[in-house]
Amino acid sequence: MAQPGTAGVADPDAGRTIEVVDPSTEEVVGHVTEAGPAGVDAAVRAARAAQPGWAATALDDRLARLTALADSLETRAEPIGRSLAREMGMPLAQAVAVQAALPVGVLRATVEAARTFPFAAEEGGATILREPAGVVAAITPWNFPLHQIAAKIGPAIAVGCTVVLKPSELAPLTIDLLEEAAREAGLPEGVLVVVHGTGPVTGEALVRHPDVDVVSLTGSVAAGRRVGAITGEAIKRACLELGGKSPSVVLDDADLEHAVRHTTERCCFNSGQACNAPTRLLVPRERLDDALAIAVDAAAGLVVGPATAEGTTMGPVISAAARDRIRAAIDGAVAEGARVVHGGSAPPDGVPDHGFWVAPTVLADVTAEMRVHGEELFGPVLCVVAYDDEDDAVRLANATDYGLSAELFTGDPERARRVAGRLRAGQVKVGGVGARQTLGAPFGGYGLSGLGRELGRFGLEEFVETKAVLGV
Ligand code: NAD
Repeated sequence: MAQPGTAGVADPDAGRTIEVVDPSTEEVVGHVTEAGPAGVDAAVRAARAAQPGWAATALDDRLARLTALADSLETRAEPIGRSLAREMGMPLAQAVAVQAALPVGVLRATVEAARTFPFAAEEGGATILREPAGVVAAITPWNFPLHQIAAKIGPAIAVGCTVVLKPSELAPLTIDLLEEAAREAGLPEGVLVVVHGTGPVTGEALVRHPDVDVVSLTGSVAAGRRVGAITGEAIKRACLELGGKSPSVVLDDADLEHAVRHTTERCCFNSGQACNAPTRLLVPRERLDDALAIAVDAAAGLVVGPATAEGTTMGPVISAAARDRIRAAIDGAVAEGARVVHGGSAPPDGVPDHGFWVAPTVLADVTAEMRVHGEELFGPVLCVVAYDDEDDAVRLANATDYGLSAELFTGDPERARRVAGRLRAGQVKVGGVGARQTLGAPFGGYGLSGLGRELGRFGLEEFVETKAVLGV
């Protein structure tokens, strides 16, 4: 456990050592020590002690610290990329390009949104104050770790909360660089405190802590259910950013080549380990064969290999458990009638003996009744589904318990707006618009994809309490 700007908080019950494994080699590349309840308590106390002072700091000063944090992360793009290539297996060039740029973009967009946020406004005959909610527990995954952290600590710190961060135990080493950047940015003691450990031990101790006012979790539905049950019992606010099984709806007037290539590449980006990856490609039945040929060509163009090997465009998946689960799901889909047109459950050609490899896979003949259509695999598996007409496309797009994101392709902007309005998803991305262009737009989902929204003004709302002052 460590605390930017201090020598750290003593952790009397520091628990077991958690080993960090490089998914490209299966080698242990580092470790962290798990914080137990006493360590979590010390961290929350430090954050609680700092909170009133931080809330009383002028908004401009808080935002200046966040801007400095963005600047400090930006100068560390290369080491951040290197560290994440090693601990979560993203190809090095991609990791350097996106893993620091995304959090930097999020922090800058948060600062912009906070400048015009209505901290005090006249409404309904009252003065409406939006006050910091207090101490925030931020619990985050490993796939775009600093991005997901920035989406929580940025708005929380901007509105005057303090944060105890529990990053993923699968990619905790890069957090040292975040702490270094936070110290350089001059974040005062206790504003951002880090505890390492697993979800059931450190995460739950943090969620249960009575001095934590708001929990913000990004992770799986299983973790969301657990955290939601604990916070529900305690009547404690929780923002839950969970999984997805996002559709890419290609309408009959779309540029098929662009739409299918983009979808396949986004589906396999980061080895399919993105919550909003478009993993269900919906195409008009009469264009199915052409769509399959384009998807196969795009998947075949990926070079699978170790994150640091020259030319790799897709690395391994995070763990042996993930690899086995995804491969089993591919076999299960075939048993239910899906057809492998590229990849499959065997290791891809040319990969080393060690490493957690899954081939980029394209499945045809997928129907809404199959398990693979409804389950998040968090791997590079594209399900191709044929539809009959626009109504059928919308029906299939919505035939999921998730609702995080959807891609939509059409040549007609008016049609795009109309169909977007019928999709059950927190974001509809038209024409292949990228995440980096939309970092101020709300992000979050319908259904099993969670509760609440992150980023921009909506992200700030998650960390304030609303007070109405009447009669003056
Ligand atoms: P995970 O649920 O295993 O872990 C996420 C975080 O929650 C980790 O820090 C973990 O330690 C913690 N955690 C787990 N169980 C907990 C518990 N009982 N109490 C408290 N904390 C607990 O998920 P993961 O494998 O790290 O990430 C992959 C999942 O995250 C996928 O389902 C993916 O879709 C989702 N995700 C969602 C978004 C989003 O913004 N909606 C973004 C990225 C990833």
